[in-house]
Amino acid sequence: MRVRVEGGVQGVGFREATRRRARALGVLGWVRNLQDGAVAVHAEGPAEAVDALLDYLSRGPRGAHVEHVEVQDVRREGHEQFAIRGVSAGVFVVQQHAATARHFDLRLEVDGVMRSWAVPKGPSLDPAVKRLAVEVEEHSLAHNRFEGATGNGGVIVWDRGTYEQGGRVRWPEAIERGHAVFVLHGEKLRGGFALQRTRPGAKPQWLLVKRRDDDARPGSDVVAELPASVVSGRTLDELLESAHG
Ligand code: MN
Repeated sequence: MRVRVEGGVQGVGFREATRRRARALGVLGWVRNLQDGAVAVHAEGPAEAVDALLDYLSRGPRGAHVEHVEVQDVRREGHEQFAIRGVSAGVFVVQQHAATARHFDLRLEVDGVMRSWAVPKGPSLDPAVKRLAVEVEEHSLAHNRFEGATGNGGVIVWDRGTYEQGGRVRWPEAIERGHAVFVLHGEKLRGGFALQRTRPGAKPQWLLVKRRDDDARPGSDVVAELPASVVSGRTLDELLESAHG
């Protein structure tokens, strides 16, 4: 079921308390704050446990003032945990890199390192576009700031920001299993994305796809429309021109 809890329910520890209660009850799903001040909960599991959570939500933790609870029957989503959604998992960066071939490097902070994928054509905000993403070695967080010349090539910071981990499976298991869903809060890239592994092996191949949401831009080509560094305003061409002539 999906529950919408209205009243004085944000800023009072409602999400953490709900997660604790859900886990104690064996309920799976998620809780998130909504922009209008309400709290949304998705709950699935044994009917008795879900009912017990609903009973808890109608009261909330100490300090909450629940005015109205709306319950809706929804399809089971198949969660393997009860998670707080909408909370930053760390930073992300997309660096455009001229080496033997030009590509974009998408890096997501996971457990203190930047898990990395080389995306030859770069990300897209068009949900119909699937972009090849080759998993490459992880980088340190310190490398996120790097922009400049390298050998015969160079790097610009094409986009950066924070991100949320999503999906039904907790991270980093989601990555190990080959299906990772996340929400980017960058300057150019925003909204939900999915990485789906299509070929395991020494250099695992994935597809990077924009999810269909309010931030999707069908028909757009964001790497062509917004080529400049978010740090310096330079394009990769301009950097290479000044560095290598
Ligand atoms: Mn690279």
